[in-house]
Amino acid sequence: MNETLAVQVRGVERRFGDLQVLRGVDLDVRQGELVALFGPSGSGKTTLLNLIGALDWPDAGEIVVLGRDILRLGERGRAQLRRTQIGFVFQGTSLLPTYSALENIDLALRLPGLGYFERRRRAKATLAALGLSAWANHMPEELSGGQRQRIAIARALALQPRLILADEPTSGIDAAAVRRILTLFRGVAEAQGTAFLIVSHDPLVADYVDTLYDLVDGKVVRRQPDLENDTRERRDKAWVG
Ligand code: ADP
Ligand code: MG
Repeated sequence: MNETLAVQVRGVERRFGDLQVLRGVDLDVRQGELVALFGPSGSGKTTLLNLIGALDWPDAGEIVVLGRDILRLGERGRAQLRRTQIGFVFQGTSLLPTYSALENIDLALRLPGLGYFERRRRAKATLAALGLSAWANHMPEELSGGQRQRIAIARALALQPRLILADEPTSGIDAAAVRRILTLFRGVAEAQGTAFLIVSHDPLVADYVDTLYDLVDGKVVRRQPDLENDTRERRDKAWVG
């Protein structure tokens, strides 16, 4: 087992009835690495994230997350891993409608057992990092889709997990805010060693990640390294400029 790997997927298959969605997926994500997974709608991106996040079971293959073989963990061990070590940004709105932005983050931080003052400190700091301080006490229905999405991102970051699984996290967010979020992700990856697996359609995401993959015909294929170098140069230039 490789200690620097946050995620190790080998030969994973998943079918729903007659539809075989994943046909032998291999994928590694290292600690501190930002990985983007692209693929058309219906290609199985969410299915794969759900498997890595211990929310679903594959038909075949191996999945090791943060050093744990999650297919051999019991339901209690899987739940513990999800609550304490994995930050999820789900596709679409996942905020609880009867709680404010701040309370939605606070609730996620109760699960690993953080105390009140630490929860408040982290919730306020991450809302500020995403430019949402003014919205802390607003209810989800008072916020735009993009603001709700950014609160879901703040909630995942506030947990300070070792792995963040983000399903289309930039959808509904304008380009300038997307750039700020991805720059923030890079800073968190570098400072805390957090691994990010970002599923996306958004070409902007490619400029900020370390490694790009495509989900094609049920398999994960790495993008040509020369294209990645090109991308990194563009990103570095964008930082200077
Ligand atoms: P993506 O996230 O890339 O858009 P999904 O992983 O959501 O794709 O879905 C891949 C395929 O699997 C789709 O055809 C979808 O309809 C099907 N699918 C996903 N989840 C289920 C399920 N629980 N039951 C039946 N079919 C499913
Ligand atoms: Mg999806």
